Amino acid sequence: AVVLGIESSCDETGAGLVRITDGAPELLGHALASSSDQHARFGGVVPEIASRAHLESMTGIVRGAFDAAGLRHADVDAVAVTAGPGLAGALLVGVAAAKAYGAAWRVPVFGVNHLAGHVAADTLEHGELPTPSLALLVSGGHTQLLRIDDLGGRGPAPITEIGTTLDDAAGEAYDKVARLLGLGYPGGPVIDRMAADGDPAAIPFPRGLTGPRDLRDSPYDFSFSGLKTAVARHVEGLLAAGRPVPVADVCASFQEAVVDVLTGKTVRAATDLGIGTVVVAGGVAANGRLRALAAQRCAAAGLSLRVPRPGLCTDNGAMIAAVGAHVARAGGAPSGPYLGGDPALPVSTVLVA
Ligand code: ATP
Ligand code: MG
Ligand code: FE
Repeated sequence: AVVLGIESSCDETGAGLVRITDGAPELLGHALASSSDQHARFGGVVPEIASRAHLESMTGIVRGAFDAAGLRHADVDAVAVTAGPGLAGALLVGVAAAKAYGAAWRVPVFGVNHLAGHVAADTLEHGELPTPSLALLVSGGHTQLLRIDDLGGRGPAPITEIGTTLDDAAGEAYDKVARLLGLGYPGGPVIDRMAADGDPAAIPFPRGLTGPRDLRDSPYDFSFSGLKTAVARHVEGLLAAGRPVPVADVCASFQEAVVDVLTGKTVRAATDLGIGTVVVAGGVAANGRLRALAAQRCAAAGLSLRVPRPGLCTDNGAMIAAVGAHVARAGGAPSGPYLGGDPALPVSTVLVA
């Protein structure tokens, strides 16, 4: 059986086709369009522009996925779509498209969780996840530690939040720091590149929530807004003194503060909870330094680490098809005719009724 996945929660319009197998879903082909260029001059995603761009790209991207897979619509057995979390108007475009395809082709529609999608992306590359696994989900809107028990959504707690950010997400911090350095949007890829020429130890930026008291009260939570403010104050100080801003050093030092905390808390949580497999997912998982430090620290702690290739870390339709394959194989009930987008869909809801 073949599942078409549709993604439109933020500024990427994605469609992907996967085959359901006895093991992990098999990626057959996918296509992607991004409106990020249109948001660049605003320093962040403008919801109305994103929604319009989804509307303009959707049918062509779905056709692109069929072309990439060498399939026709008659080959599709189910449609999966991101039902949340995300931007309300953007989600609506994908959900409306999925319902239209479902009705036209007479196949079931599964409204699924975007965050489960980020984690499921890894199964397309590395096979089924052992359960339980610990996921570090790091994206533009989320920074969470998740216990993954069933990507098919079965049971009372298929995905459980272990920790979360108390303020900014890691990707949001990258985007805000890039904006204050005048590097444009999205900030993650540019800072990743600039940091390669900088000294990560040049500026001792703060490590959020890693003090002795914080590690007692919120051992698996994150905070990145203080770090972003520290970068802003540092840059302001240099400018006020008429000194040049060493952009590469600022990027490298900021990035080191982010990935140090992310990897440190992840390894600690996995060890405390006795979970042997860590998967890093979401757009920030494309980060070179995060991947390297996670590999180093997981190896040192005897944990097995999985990270999807960068192209599957950022938003795409294949990851949504992957969740669709898991819920369909688990015997999940298709979503009803009133399926809509839920901007605040909790991560514990893998499949929306
Ligand atoms: P969410 O998944 O929480 O709804 P989103 O879908 O907007 O948010 P993703 O597409 O998963 O987020 O990730 C986008 C984020 O990833 C942006 O903040 C971007 O700056 C960041 N990002 C992308 N590539 C990199 C990189 N190489 N290094 C660091 N951050 C990166
Ligand atoms: Mg994006
Ligand atoms: Fe995302």
